Amino acid sequence: MTLLHNMPTADLQKLDAAHHVHPFTTNADLAAKGARVISSAKGVFLRDSEGVELLDGMAGLWCTNIGYGRNELADAAHAQMLQLPYYNTFFQTTHAPVIALSAKLAQLAPGDLNHVFYASGGSEANDTNIRLVRHYWATKGKPDKKVIISRHNAYHGSTMGGASLGGMSAMHAQGGLPIPDIAFIDQPFWYAEGGESSPEDFGLERARQLEAKIAALGEDNVAAFIAEPVQGAGGVIIPPATYWPEIQRICDAHDILLIADEVICGFGRTGNWFGSDTLNIRPDIMTIAKGLSSGYAPIGGSILSDEVAEVIASTEFNHGYTYAGHPVSCAVAMENLRILEDENLIQQVRDVTGPYLAEKWGQLADHPLVGEAKSLGMMAGLAMTPDKAARAPFAADAGTVGYICRERCFANGLIMRHVGDRMIISPPLVISKSEIDQLVERAAKALDETLAVLQQDGLMTAG
Ligand SMILES: *Cc1c(COP(=O)(O)O)cnc(C)c1O
Repeated sequence: MTLLHNMPTADLQKLDAAHHVHPFTTNADLAAKGARVISSAKGVFLRDSEGVELLDGMAGLWCTNIGYGRNELADAAHAQMLQLPYYNTFFQTTHAPVIALSAKLAQLAPGDLNHVFYASGGSEANDTNIRLVRHYWATKGKPDKKVIISRHNAYHGSTMGGASLGGMSAMHAQGGLPIPDIAFIDQPFWYAEGGESSPEDFGLERARQLEAKIAALGEDNVAAFIAEPVQGAGGVIIPPATYWPEIQRICDAHDILLIADEVICGFGRTGNWFGSDTLNIRPDIMTIAKGLSSGYAPIGGSILSDEVAEVIASTEFNHGYTYAGHPVSCAVAMENLRILEDENLIQQVRDVTGPYLAEKWGQLADHPLVGEAKSLGMMAGLAMTPDKAARAPFAADAGTVGYICRERCFANGLIMRHVGDRMIISPPLVISKSEIDQLVERAAKALDETLAVLQQDGLMTAG
């Protein structure tokens, strides 16, 4: 059986369009255009089937933290497949790789987050969290504590549970979401929603919506609050400094669990092991995935505090996935964590490349099209605007300008994602200073070309 690595691009595209349904894609449009075929990758660079090299500003989908082409992970997977390719953990059974990874995660995670329940990715882990926090309160004799509070424009995955927890209206519009007993507050997105208030005041105001929502629902009905330390898919939205301390105070003052969705922020993205370390958050549960294995094998999970784990341990929790704690994924994750540690990749982001990116990326704010350009660790976002002083959106439909810019990035050898008219990056943590220079140069060129298109097409008008 051939994997078609030598098939001509046009034939691959045709076959892809005939049989492969892409996620988050209008497949009919893509079929007409033809998908870009990615063939290989090394470090921070991808190569497509036509030999074009692309700087991967997104680390795949926020996940290839150690970069591409690390044979050690292939070796770890190979060795584990030969030793024990699969076994489950349902039948009062376990295996060495899942034990090793659980102990390692307990050591790395902050506070008393010492117990791991596994999934195949972040969405599944958040589905676990929904059932787990409700079961936790029921076990404690409070079955009415069911509501989970989340935030508009949050991303927590694409399963029924994950997408319900998420605050993406386009996702809620399809498939009968959200499921019952999920409530929402507004996001701490000062640039777009802060109006005339200072970022500090705005951060407090948005955090206090949580306290108001708990009061409105009744504390006896609320199970948990879930949030990403820094919103990723929502547009790399770095909250004002006042936000998380106030959220933490509110969670401490009321009897609810705090779930930090660390699927993007975990494993070095913000310059520490977890976003909770960087932002001083003390969660009861952390969702993990993506950077846990640098995307080399699918794995996710929920890390539970001693107290939550103890309550759950007192009953049978009727929940679990066939591939939970998959031995090959655990072996790959262990090798990934070893590389992150042995090569000091997280310290490098915190002390060297993160500050360097902040400086270079921040300079893009001087571009006539850019209203704001901010980064934290190795994640960054910028807002495009027709009117910098007013932080105004474009008159054209949201995403029109973002899409144009994304296409100019591709044309200049850079993968940068657009969320509406924000441009975002989350490159591999191994990116060097000179590669950061390359990334920012290509982004600046794409912005220049985008501005030219907008001026030509009369799109530089505020809405
Ligand atoms: C990607 C993501 C998820 C979903 O993870 P999958 O592995 O795609 O299921 C959940 N939460 C956050 C914050 C994410 O970025």
